[in-house]
Amino acid sequence: MKELIGKSISKLQELLASKQVKAKEVCDAHLNHIDRLDKEIFAFNTVTHGLARKQAELVDQQIAAGDKLGKLAGIPIALKDNICLQGYPTTCSSKILANFMPPYDATVTKRLFEQGAVCVGKTNMDEFAMGSSTENSAFKPTLNPWSLMGNGNKKLVPGGSSGGSTASVAAGFSTVALGSDTGGSIRQPASFCGVVGMKPTYGLVSRFGLVAFASSLDQIGPLGRTTEDVAITLSAIAGHDSHDSTSLPEPKVDFLSDLKKPIKGLRLGIISELLGEGIEAEIQEAIKKAIETYRSLGAKCDQVSMPNLKHALPVYYIIATAEASANLARYDGVRYGLRDKESKDVLSMYYKTRQAGFGAEVKRRIMLGTFALSTGYYDAYYKKAQQVRQLIKNEFDQAFQKFDLLICPTSPSVAFEFGAKTSDPLSMYLSDIATIPANLAGIPAVSLPCSFDKQGLPIGLQLMGPALSDAKLLQAAFAFESTTNFDNQPPPALLTKV
Ligand code: GLN
Repeated sequence: MKELIGKSISKLQELLASKQVKAKEVCDAHLNHIDRLDKEIFAFNTVTHGLARKQAELVDQQIAAGDKLGKLAGIPIALKDNICLQGYPTTCSSKILANFMPPYDATVTKRLFEQGAVCVGKTNMDEFAMGSSTENSAFKPTLNPWSLMGNGNKKLVPGGSSGGSTASVAAGFSTVALGSDTGGSIRQPASFCGVVGMKPTYGLVSRFGLVAFASSLDQIGPLGRTTEDVAITLSAIAGHDSHDSTSLPEPKVDFLSDLKKPIKGLRLGIISELLGEGIEAEIQEAIKKAIETYRSLGAKCDQVSMPNLKHALPVYYIIATAEASANLARYDGVRYGLRDKESKDVLSMYYKTRQAGFGAEVKRRIMLGTFALSTGYYDAYYKKAQQVRQLIKNEFDQAFQKFDLLICPTSPSVAFEFGAKTSDPLSMYLSDIATIPANLAGIPAVSLPCSFDKQGLPIGLQLMGPALSDAKLLQAAFAFESTTNFDNQPPPALLTKV
């Protein structure tokens, strides 16, 4: 049933409601597609065939009984492998958690299931979400589905750290997927794989059941082929959760209600610092064209200078590593996952477990973070970074007095080849120069496809808004998407393989 692959949520639900197809058929079509092609792409750490079929059968029973259906009834979804799914491994693509089975579902998992979603699997990622290419997975790197289009046979990364979730959506393995975004891990891969990815306002989506990386920055968010699919998924997962102390007390919002409203009069700020040096020329051109599209839709676009953004990267790599060093202290062989069996005393058991269980990038971050928090250096690094973080937040507040939303590229480059940046961590870190600021400020941001470069690779545009402007962001993304046709573009070579 290849015609079921790559369909939007509303299209699939139309087919289900009119009984033209069964949820079981939608599910099997996607599972077969995964079984045939994921051997090349490696988007999944675990494919949950049994669970998916059970959930699809339940939806079919509901349809037969004429029950009211959930927002995601019968829709194939995938979960990043740092989001708990009861009874299946949640590995964070790390050896240290390779055999960890969570005893409960994350709140987002529960909420997706309450809406009838069909979970096809857990997706590959950079180990503990640390990376920008998914090459830091302890298991295997994920291939960007756009690599399969001939592209000089180049093997391209899907971006990261949510590379598996993003490749899953781009390849049509699942209609939507959840990722996590600490410094860009949803938006940067979305731009590399030509899909829509959103980091919601900090605290809008519960993180109960998300394995923590950097707690003041982490957010779960949706990836989809269209803004509407992202809005539907966000409506399902957002809203207060008493299990997460950082969860906002906001009432539940339907992100579809304003989605299709015109954006005439929208004040859009163009961040000058993110449209010059360090950003590939073709990407700058694409964003300038997108700004013209916004103008034609009635938006008022003007430059805004944000000089403190140049500090975002160093600030992030102090705060994120400091928080990671604390969060990852729990993996010591005592309660979770891997445990060295040879050691005679507890201290060497800790050492050996962590030495064998963590990969090089995770170790680098734990060391950097521990250093930044240590006596004598705390004030110079961690405290200073927190102060500069406040300055960055203030700069956003000022910008939002004049503008409703801000626009810039998502990433300074398009998808790069495997191995291109693995030996140079700094150049890898620079991938996130445009995405990190939104995490530091706790504000929502979305990446959507806005063009293709000369090689035919997707380019992403990023919109950011003040806290809780998530609905407006999606509205602005939808407006662009409906006047252009960059959304829902499957990687060409993949089409021939479906
Ligand atoms: N690439 C960034 C990092 O390595 C962001 C990761 C993320 O958002 N999880 O820290």
